[in-house]
Amino acid sequence: MDFNALIDWYIENHRPLPWRETRNPYRIWLSEVILQQTRVAQGLEYYLRFVERFPTAVDLAGADEDEVLKLWQGLGYYSRARNLHAAARQVAERHEGVFPTDYAAVRALRGVGDYTAAAIVSFSTDAPYAVVDGNVYRVASRLLDIDTPIDTTAGRKEFAAAAQRLLEEFLETVGRKGEGAGRYNQAVMELGALVCTSRSPQCEACPLGTACLARRNGTVAERPVKQGRTVQTPRWFNYLHLVDRQGRTVVCRREGNDIWRGLYEFPLVETEGEYDFDALPLPVDGTDWVWRGAVRMPKHVLSHRIIHATFHRIELPDLTAGEWPEGWCVIPVARLGDYAVARLTELYLSRAAADGSHQKG
Ligand code: SF4
Repeated sequence: MDFNALIDWYIENHRPLPWRETRNPYRIWLSEVILQQTRVAQGLEYYLRFVERFPTAVDLAGADEDEVLKLWQGLGYYSRARNLHAAARQVAERHEGVFPTDYAAVRALRGVGDYTAAAIVSFSTDAPYAVVDGNVYRVASRLLDIDTPIDTTAGRKEFAAAAQRLLEEFLETVGRKGEGAGRYNQAVMELGALVCTSRSPQCEACPLGTACLARRNGTVAERPVKQGRTVQTPRWFNYLHLVDRQGRTVVCRREGNDIWRGLYEFPLVETEGEYDFDALPLPVDGTDWVWRGAVRMPKHVLSHRIIHATFHRIELPDLTAGEWPEGWCVIPVARLGDYAVARLTELYLSRAAADGSHQKG
């Protein structure tokens, strides 16, 4: 394998991103958590925002969860934001605020898996741990022409071992000064992102092209192999967008072990299927409510769920006069922007603001 060519290619072609210019493990960790399931352009904006607001793990540890979630808003996968916050607190408590660079200590932090731990320690100290992310799966499956499905336990094991072998081969054969595990890991991931892409790999321009077994065997388009699709469970969310004549509304914080924990939303009635407003099992007596119509949102697809959401707009004379279930907070409509909400609610709010009206459902 011509690893020198890979490193030369990387030096010449990599995208200059701020987390690549640093050896600071806290910043590398932030970027890794933000970039999971996020496009680089979008992630960059969030990374800069987080670094500016929380320059160190101690700053992040001292923040309110609401503030962290608000800063995270729009990125989705909110458990990552909660884990980020919890891990910063672990760093403050266990490591006196100094972000660790030892693999076991990093791996023990909340929300840090094998990939993130390997990325943090190799990028910050060149510790010899191979990273295995989606790009590495693709590159390794093609380079070595492996047909084991990547989404199986056997596949994950085999690819972790293969990636580690490739890294060790690199470390033995590339004796260039300053070229360690960090640079190698970055280079393989960047190759997967820019050259060895899913749909149109540019094998002609690939620095590892001569050694690539899938290219030789004509199997590039079939690698990597995936076993199955994730099952997405449908859910039906009926939101009560209550407003009163004084310009107030009601929001609730999501609690429990479910999606969007810690985020705010309008009072929710979840049903087993699609219901008209009249048939909804309301959590309170709604006799003085005036229903002003509903907005049915397009299907909202998450990794394991499809949400069918309807927002019912309801007017009532005075929200402060009612007896509401625990957790319902009456707030001025003008303050809605201060609360961290899921993308679905954000989409509804911008649609409602743009329409200025609500279709009948
Ligand atoms: S030769 Fe093609 S398939 Fe093989 S690693 Fe390079 S880009 Fe990927």
